[in-house]
Amino acid sequence: MTTLLDGLVGKALRRETPSRDEALAVLTGAEETLDIVAAAGRVRRHFFGRRVKLNTIINMKSGLCPEDCSYCSQRLGSSAEILKYSWISPEEAARTADQAVRAGAKRICLVASGRGPGARDITRIEDTIAAVKEGSPEAEICVCLGLLSDGQAERLAAAGAHAYSHNLNTSEARYADICSTHTFTDRTDTLRRAGAAGLSPCSGAIFGMGESDEDIVDLAFALRESDPDSVPVNFLIPFEGTPLADNWELTPERCLRILALFRFCFPDVEVRLAGGREIHLRSLQPLALHLANSMFLGDYLTSEGQPGTDDRQMITDAGFVIEGVDERTLPDARHDLVAIRRRGAGSDLPANT
Ligand code: SF4
Repeated sequence: MTTLLDGLVGKALRRETPSRDEALAVLTGAEETLDIVAAAGRVRRHFFGRRVKLNTIINMKSGLCPEDCSYCSQRLGSSAEILKYSWISPEEAARTADQAVRAGAKRICLVASGRGPGARDITRIEDTIAAVKEGSPEAEICVCLGLLSDGQAERLAAAGAHAYSHNLNTSEARYADICSTHTFTDRTDTLRRAGAAGLSPCSGAIFGMGESDEDIVDLAFALRESDPDSVPVNFLIPFEGTPLADNWELTPERCLRILALFRFCFPDVEVRLAGGREIHLRSLQPLALHLANSMFLGDYLTSEGQPGTDDRQMITDAGFVIEGVDERTLPDARHDLVAIRRRGAGSDLPANT
């Protein structure tokens, strides 16, 4: 292995962030892509073994969003011919969740289009969480409803949600290029609210939107500041009828290098292979399992994913195993980072000053 890759692996195993130059070299340096995958794969196996966590999206409410995110088929003015519907019932969500859990999904992601939920929407989601938990008590429930206002994250946590998902999507410098109706700071603010309410923060990115290597590194570093527990890595699905319909700029090798960079930046965090993997990684999809320890199973919000049987076969063929409900996703070692104070006030030992 090269000095660069040796250094990156060593840092990742110590949970240290790569330098900016190292991060850029993962994206465009002289190293062979397969050597980069092998190096990042060592980090993945160290923290997650050969387990793959499966997650399923349930689109609770589709289309007709007043926001204008350029990448999104549900955006204001989108003419993409997607399914459009208002809220599905808690019972329908619970039925879909049950199917997904039987197919191996460990996390159920309840997603709805829109700028953010109103009070009645939160009540609907509370009812949905109850219905899903009744049918699939072992499922982790993640909620993704857009920007949160005061008290909403607390209500979701009290209802039994495990996580809140809100992607940063692209770098702060580029945010206004992809969306004019809300800001990067709005997004980081919602992530902060979710974390403060005790919800596990899930936040990731979309690549293939014209971003530079510098933008990718900026975003990876900004995400690290938000300290997410899971990081979905999406590759743009260029829908006809959206402003980014012609953005077919990704190659399979570029996707692998981005995923490797995210593994080096988030060594012990759930890195999730998300939307667009089939169309951009194509025949190299199995290699991505050496980088990501988690993936979506089934369809995405408004586009169809490959059949679940193909995903499960791919996981087995590549030598990985589906993570069981009793297995912890994040490595135990993360819990070692919390040292309970046993010295100073209230003890017989001197303070650490
Ligand atoms: S990403 Fe969310 S907020 Fe943006 S347009 Fe799509 S549904 Fe609306």
